[in-house]
Amino acid sequence: MDNRKKLVQYILAYKWQFILGSILGGVVTCGDLLTPFLAGKFLNAVKLDNWNMIKMIALAFVIVQLPKGVANYGQSYLIASATNRIATDIRNRIYAHLHSMTLSFFERNKVGHLMSRMTNDVGLIQNGSGAITDVINAPLTVIGGIARMFMINWVLAGIFILFVPGMGVLISRITRKMRKLTINLQLKLADVIAVLEETIVGIRVVKSFGMEKNEIQRFFEQNLASLKAALKSARRSALVTPITEFFGTIVVVAIMLLGGYLVTSHQIPYGSIVEFGGIAFYVASSAKKIGRLNVTYHQTMAGIDRIFEVLDEEPDIADSPDAVDLGEITGHVAFKNVSFSYQTGEQVLKNISFTMEPGKAVAVVGPSGAGKSTVANLVPRFYEVSGGAVLVDDHDIRCVTLESLRKHIGIVPQETILFSGTIRDNIAYGRPDATDEEVEQAARAANAHMFVSQFEDGYKTVIGERGARLSGGERQRIAIARAILKDPRILILDEATSSLDATSERLVQEALDKLMVGRTTLVIAHRLSTIKQADLIIVLGDGRIVEQGSFDELMQHEGAFARLYHTQFDLKKEEVVASSEGHLEKTQN
Ligand code: ATP
Repeated sequence: MDNRKKLVQYILAYKWQFILGSILGGVVTCGDLLTPFLAGKFLNAVKLDNWNMIKMIALAFVIVQLPKGVANYGQSYLIASATNRIATDIRNRIYAHLHSMTLSFFERNKVGHLMSRMTNDVGLIQNGSGAITDVINAPLTVIGGIARMFMINWVLAGIFILFVPGMGVLISRITRKMRKLTINLQLKLADVIAVLEETIVGIRVVKSFGMEKNEIQRFFEQNLASLKAALKSARRSALVTPITEFFGTIVVVAIMLLGGYLVTSHQIPYGSIVEFGGIAFYVASSAKKIGRLNVTYHQTMAGIDRIFEVLDEEPDIADSPDAVDLGEITGHVAFKNVSFSYQTGEQVLKNISFTMEPGKAVAVVGPSGAGKSTVANLVPRFYEVSGGAVLVDDHDIRCVTLESLRKHIGIVPQETILFSGTIRDNIAYGRPDATDEEVEQAARAANAHMFVSQFEDGYKTVIGERGARLSGGERQRIAIARAILKDPRILILDEATSSLDATSERLVQEALDKLMVGRTTLVIAHRLSTIKQADLIIVLGDGRIVEQGSFDELMQHEGAFARLYHTQFDLKKEEVVASSEGHLEKTQN
């Protein structure tokens, strides 16, 4: 569907506001056009020394102006209310739509660019819709005004309208490029927001590398590019007013000369030329508004095009029409000949098959880039497999609803994202209805209660943006508490690689141990203790399973895992020896 038609659908939701606004616009236009009429009558009455007539005209003036003022207020409010509601609807729709999109969508689109569509582009629509009062009133004034001009004197009116088509053609030529210029400007503004967003989010990296000056320079350059685009667009848009005024001047001079001649040769009364001039003023300024509306129209359409570009993008993962609710599960997970490629093309997983028994822990290990995170991301169906299938309790996950699948999956990521709000809000993130007791219980199990209760406000402590007031280990324990509260059957654990101090490490490990009990767990394992405790270890290499088995089996096999183990965990050998397991000592000897 054409983007204009899509916008019309949003407008139609408020059709009564627009209809009522148009009726009130009619009242305003009548008031405008009656003003010169009364001014003309007033001058005629003055010339005739008709005092009674002067009083009547003064009264009529008040009678005209009062309803015009009320109608003006009503129309402005109705249209503003409708346009703001449309902008709000569109913003809500984009936001909801973004949540239906998959991870690959967010990898393709910069956060700053998406934010810009929500703010700058919706702003363009708001501006454009704000011109709707002009869309209603200006043509009414032009039509009504010209009709009245013909009633006063058709020759004068003829001269006046002779210029209208020429002016229209010229304005449409000037404004034709506006849409392209505005799209370019919006793209540049989006780049500015993208730099802002990236550097604020990554401010620690910027500071640690002392890159402030470079980032400021980068921002200045993007901002300068957006300024240039804004000026280019402004130069063109600014042409409209002087051109319409130039035409207006020619018309005024022609009317002055001919009108003056008609009055002085007594062919029309003195007041009529005043009325004609007044109406000509209203009609000309309305025509000017129509000229500017063309600019606004192209700018609004540029915003609309960019917004529908996002809204029209279908999520590449959605419930199939016959998707069923997964219901309660035991937590059996199977990868059956799974292959996978990201949109960039290269095959990242090749024919992966393994099974996770309910309540058991599977550790995925392998060198960097082997595909460990990718395997983990396929379980909640963040990405769609390219071949084979992932099964949960023997259901192909493509045949069940996403909601019922993800309800059973808890994820503890490497880096915990905390949202603005209190500690309680963050722990209860997946279950806002949890009671305070449940939140505390989860926090206790996650070894978080101790540090939370040390804050003056306890669970009501507001966390600074991105959890700046909590340490890495504390944030991890909040994430664990979150997962405990969700109580999922399947757990995905992306162990943090950054090392914590010994106490913090122990507290996190204890919390994780408690969390894993009775749940099917897939761990992207970096900790030795996790690997050793896992019921099954999957060793990935270059997207394939190169080995699988228990720790003992793999060490005895002395294959890829043993080699990986020696290179990756060499530093921790002593720890392993301390745990004194016979086979490890064997490998040391
Ligand atoms: P690490 O231990 O370093 O986190 P990993 O074993 O978890 O690595 P993955 O993150 O699964 O490896 O990545 C596997 C391969 O897929 C890598 O070659 C990586 O470059 C590529 N890859 C990962 N994420 C994406 C993505 N979103 N788009 C395109 N390619 C990706």
